[in-house]
Amino acid sequence: MRKKMIAGNWKMHGSRAELPVLLNAIKQAGHVLNQRDVLVFPAFIHLSDASALLEDSGVLLGAQNLYLGKTGAFTGEVAGSMLAEYGCRYVLVGHSERRTIFKEDLALVAAKVQAALEAGLTPLLCIGETLQQRQAGTMEQVLKDQLDTVIEQIGIKEFASVMIAYEPIWAIGTGVTATPEQAQQAHQWIREYLAKYHPEVANSMRILYGGSVKADNAEALFNMPDIDGGLIGGASLKADSFLAICHA
Ligand code: PEP
Repeated sequence: MRKKMIAGNWKMHGSRAELPVLLNAIKQAGHVLNQRDVLVFPAFIHLSDASALLEDSGVLLGAQNLYLGKTGAFTGEVAGSMLAEYGCRYVLVGHSERRTIFKEDLALVAAKVQAALEAGLTPLLCIGETLQQRQAGTMEQVLKDQLDTVIEQIGIKEFASVMIAYEPIWAIGTGVTATPEQAQQAHQWIREYLAKYHPEVANSMRILYGGSVKADNAEALFNMPDIDGGLIGGASLKADSFLAICHA
């Protein structure tokens, strides 16, 4: 049985003063935390405060990015081992904003997944197609490429330690959500594709849906058999909307 996970990607939002307000509200949702894994991804600069605020709370902490290796002359970058020191157990890799705005290619994303695992972090690997790719019928090829490069880099056994977020790019921050059926279809395809490599890895893989999840569409999405929770952007920035999604 795969435990549902609800993760909040705060992106470059929030201030130091807002951090305790949001995190204390999430921490108080005690009974939700027994039934679901709740995870937040604040900005790098807020991780230290967030780690202290979340101590012994059961709310999980992750970072939005990492770089390769443990140390080196990489100005502006942060290593996975540094994130682990601050209580991070998860890290986002391959978010579409990193792939598009910061030009992270398939090879770099695969190397970052490996770097995360080597640092003892669970990578939440984001994959997804553009609207153009979906309309052109190349969605499956896009997802295959995004999965294969990682599996070739780390091997399918190690891939069992990865989590996936399926995030159709046309649904991220647009207010347009994939219908539960569209999302389920993609999640099922991902699981069946992984099963060709390794049925057990496919069966135990948590696949989150991301893309304009809100309190009013979360339940229908999370009720789908292959949707194991959500990666939430905009709606994770306010405690009431994030907690409503956690309750869904
Ligand atoms: C995201 O950026 O991962 C995301 C899902 O954003 P939103 O929920 O705002 O679409």
